[in-house]
Amino acid sequence: MSVRLYYDSAYMREFDAKVVKCTKTDKGAEIILDKTAFYPEGGGQPCDCGTINGIEVYDVQEKGEDVIHYTKAELPEGTEVHGIIDWERRFDLMVQHSGEHIVSGFINARFGYNNVGFHMGADFITVDLDGDITKEELKEIEIAVNDYIWQNHHVEVLLPTPEELKELKYRSKKELEGEVRIIRFPGGDTCACCGTHVDTTAEIGLVKLISVQKFHEGVRIEMICGKRAYEYCAKAVEENSKISNQLSAKVFETSAAVDRLLNENQQLKIKLSETENNMLGIISENYRGISDKIIINQPNLTPDNVRKLAAALIEQNSGLVAVFSGDDENGYKYAVAQKDGDLKQLVKDMNTALNGRGGGKPFFAQGSVNASAEDIKNFFK
Ligand SMILES: [Zn+2]
Repeated sequence: MSVRLYYDSAYMREFDAKVVKCTKTDKGAEIILDKTAFYPEGGGQPCDCGTINGIEVYDVQEKGEDVIHYTKAELPEGTEVHGIIDWERRFDLMVQHSGEHIVSGFINARFGYNNVGFHMGADFITVDLDGDITKEELKEIEIAVNDYIWQNHHVEVLLPTPEELKELKYRSKKELEGEVRIIRFPGGDTCACCGTHVDTTAEIGLVKLISVQKFHEGVRIEMICGKRAYEYCAKAVEENSKISNQLSAKVFETSAAVDRLLNENQQLKIKLSETENNMLGIISENYRGISDKIIINQPNLTPDNVRKLAAALIEQNSGLVAVFSGDDENGYKYAVAQKDGDLKQLVKDMNTALNGRGGGKPFFAQGSVNASAEDIKNFFK
């Protein structure tokens, strides 16, 4: 059985121990020590990383009474070793985990909802609840939780007797057997947990609840704490500051400025559409009363306007109408039409001759060609 030093102190960054068992694997070895400060993955908390005698520990798992260290190389049984925990990683996990306790505790106290799923991802921590919370309520929880952590409460680890446990009100995801470890954030949360936590709540620094969305019967909350929360906020401030500069708006008025911009954009689209319709009207007027075929190459038309122009032209002309728009480099969009006509063969021939694709109804076809203006002209000669 491996002695778990992280239960003596979650702040133990280095330790001395002895190799009890070493099994060779494809990637290196599985090593069991007589005692360890490496936290194995469990209770929603990812495992520690670090080194043992300078050899990388890339995974740590619990197997019954033992803690298995997955290392990149072997260490003979009986070797005296020195373990070093990747402290930046561990402290971050302790901070995220502790913050999650308090958020879940506050939500449980206020709404009675349970944390039914918990995942500590590389970017965000997700908490799944069995009830619904609005964005507004989430904001209130965030304010209350931050107020609480700044009061710098001392975090307690309790190992109650079965009798004491019966009297204790605490959160737990499953029915527990044997010795139960209770983590108490006084006035914030009491929960059965085997993970590692900070000693004082101010170490959590900052709790940011990022989002809430429907998930199964309840909601999923994304959250971050500590340095992750600071870095997230710093990035968001930087991004907002860029928008503020781009739009010459005060930093707390950027969304109003974006609203104005979107509104202007909408008005411009309406105006553009009107102008385009006028232009199409003028062009089609110019071709009124022509009985012969009409071949038009008009620059800068959208595919929709190519279609509209062809449709307008066949309303007032009985001959073949072909509208093209584009350039020699990127090819041309087309609409080919004739009132009551059957253009199937023509369109087929055109697509072959001009390296094109497209089709439609017998009297109206649309598509694109990969050819030059000269090629198009020659085809319709
Ligand atoms: Zn915990």
